[in-house]
Amino acid sequence: MKKCPYCAEEISKSAVFCKHCESRLEEAAVDGSRWEYIIATPRMKGWVNKGVSDEVVEKINDLGSEGWELISSSPVSTSKGGTDFLTLFFKRKIN
Ligand SMILES: [Zn+2]
Repeated sequence: MKKCPYCAEEISKSAVFCKHCESRLEEAAVDGSRWEYIIATPRMKGWVNKGVSDEVVEKINDLGSEGWELISSSPVSTSKGGTDFLTLFFKRKIN
């Protein structure tokens, strides 16, 4: 862990953006780390309170085994208030 130079919150040592204030961290850019990102949208079972479908868990594990780290997720709601899809954000370090 290290401190964000802009807001002084604790952040991951390898963070490129501060999750608290969203500042870009120049130190991280200087150390040569580069990242690629993808977004996956596995289908939910229906209403979000029925739980997460196997497809969601499989998707996360499949991508994890390929080096993709889940960094964020967001439900995509229908007009009726249910959750049809999860939007999953993954990142992977480029060597
Ligand atoms: Zn910050």
